[in-house]
Amino acid sequence: MSPSTDDLLKAIFQAELRGASISASELARHLGISPPGITQMANRLQEDGLVEYRPYRPMTLTQEGRELAAGIIRKHRLWEMFLHKALKMGWNEVHREAEMLEHQTSDALANRLDEFLGHPAFDPHGQPIPDRHGRVRTRKDILALSEAEPGITYTVVGVTDKSDDLMDFFTDIGLTLKSRITVNGKISMDESVIVSVKNYRTILSKTVAEHIYVQK
Ligand SMILES: [Zn+2]
Repeated sequence: MSPSTDDLLKAIFQAELRGASISASELARHLGISPPGITQMANRLQEDGLVEYRPYRPMTLTQEGRELAAGIIRKHRLWEMFLHKALKMGWNEVHREAEMLEHQTSDALANRLDEFLGHPAFDPHGQPIPDRHGRVRTRKDILALSEAEPGITYTVVGVTDKSDDLMDFFTDIGLTLKSRITVNGKISMDESVIVSVKNYRTILSKTVAEHIYVQK
């Protein structure tokens, strides 16, 4: 299976976890592939029994496709944890390496990693690691910082790691998992959020705030 096919399955899986559906054009944008390229991949994955796809309809995973996607995400997040815990790499350094390693990892090796790491429930970014049966733990009472209320101090419980720039920015301002973050206010014009993290007071765009998950 080529990396891009894996990435397509992962993107649909993650949208489904959020309770959302994802169209072929959104997938094309997300993966940087042309719409005809996506259609071609979708048709091939449908033949393999991994996705269900009809033109102009959201793409969905079959049970087999869902298990495969959960397995790839499991390998990715276990590698991130290994690189972070065992090799002491920063949380802003591990995603890129894991993107490559996830495609070259057998289920048996993933299980050995899982054992070595003591069956971690979450990766270094606070994202849940699917278990060997593809089950994903969900946490309650978590919201995106973009939805948080002014005047309240929250604890950071997760970030999305898709952008290296963003991860470097988080590292620069000292934002880590378990950081306390206070929402000082919101700018109504564009819904950006004024926050304090440690001794930093900064403004986060709505888009950046959507990538930080917090708990009261
Ligand atoms: Zn990652």
